[in-house]
Amino acid sequence: MNKVAVIKCADYEQTRVDAAVKSAIDLLGGISAFVKPGQTVVLKANLLMKCSVDKCATTHPSVIEAVAKLVLSAGAKRVIVADSAGGPFTEGYMNAIYKSNDLVERAERCGFELNQDFTSVNVDMPEAKVGKRFLICNCLETADTIINITKLKTHSFTGYTNAVKNMFGAIPGLSKVEMHGQFRTLDVFGDFMYDIWDYFGDKIRLNVTDAVMCMEGAGPSNGTPRFVGAVLASQDPVAVDVAGIRLMNIEPISMPFIEKAVERGKIDKDCQIELLGDNLDELVVKDYKTVTPNNFKPLANYVPQSMQNAVHQIMTQRPVIDKKKCRGCKKCFEHCPVKAISMVRKKDNEVPKAQIDYTKCIRCYCCQELCPFGVVKIKSGIIYKLIHLGSKKKIRNK
Ligand code: SF4
Ligand code: SF4
Repeated sequence: MNKVAVIKCADYEQTRVDAAVKSAIDLLGGISAFVKPGQTVVLKANLLMKCSVDKCATTHPSVIEAVAKLVLSAGAKRVIVADSAGGPFTEGYMNAIYKSNDLVERAERCGFELNQDFTSVNVDMPEAKVGKRFLICNCLETADTIINITKLKTHSFTGYTNAVKNMFGAIPGLSKVEMHGQFRTLDVFGDFMYDIWDYFGDKIRLNVTDAVMCMEGAGPSNGTPRFVGAVLASQDPVAVDVAGIRLMNIEPISMPFIEKAVERGKIDKDCQIELLGDNLDELVVKDYKTVTPNNFKPLANYVPQSMQNAVHQIMTQRPVIDKKKCRGCKKCFEHCPVKAISMVRKKDNEVPKAQIDYTKCIRCYCCQELCPFGVVKIKSGIIYKLIHLGSKKKIRNK
């Protein structure tokens, strides 16, 4: 299960991407090993927000097109690209995102569909660790097969995002806000991610990572594009995440999602994976600008329950809104899972601007992720800086 195919890919020129994606999947047995004729196959992309493809916040459309064409060539009856982005799961919202991500003309030309089913269904999982009942998008529920097509990026909350985190987009629209509110710490949120994976089980047959142009720094939406030059593929979401994390020159076990995968028996503690294809070590970006995940778990064992909230406030990074640049669009206000943001008008002739109540803020960083104008920055206090003085030691030195 833990095989990861690695293929170099110099840019997003379509024939080059087609060849790289095919080579990666061929190393795993070819597309017919994952798709059967007559199936409805959903390609679960990362379509985070309405933005230019060049921002590198979303799976590049050439990678989606390459996978879609292969799946169609394997005889699939329908190939549907889907995601629930960071906003309402509605026709108007998602069609604007398909358009901004350059998917509309590609879908018409190649014969794949862009999901138009915006209904959702409740899932009951009494045996799950934390996600015992949650909503998922109906298009994923009714698919015969799902292929997870992801983007490799830094992420202010989780440290990185790739295959495992991409399935959070199975949760429709604003229900994600509710889930963030329910599963507040990264430890519990990690359990929820793997509960989602356990729900879908073998239906998610394959993961393909767009690691050609990635995002470094203030990901997942306000970082900087960074060339890595690879396409990855694996049946195993944890294995492909380990490979992606190594490309960012980070020790995989230092990422809470990987630590959680070890805890839940999804990978061994040495994070061993079997690499196929091109040499991954040659593609590692040694000076990749990483972020430290917001992991409160190590301290939670030593702090009394009654003090955990207060300690959490001072030991984690804070979202800070640049009031001068805030345009008052309310996106952060609408998506804050704990209603820690209010819109405040300071002068009569001014639009109300976002203001954070830090006593309520749970540091999920959804406001930073979703602000369309990049005016929410993640800032470290003195105590946080002192605690993380040694965190660079976690970076691999090769
Ligand atoms: S203010 Fe921002 S970081 Fe804090 S809980 Fe709300 S959305 Fe999350
Ligand atoms: S999303 Fe950004 S611009 Fe919009 S109200 Fe919030 S901080 Fe201001």
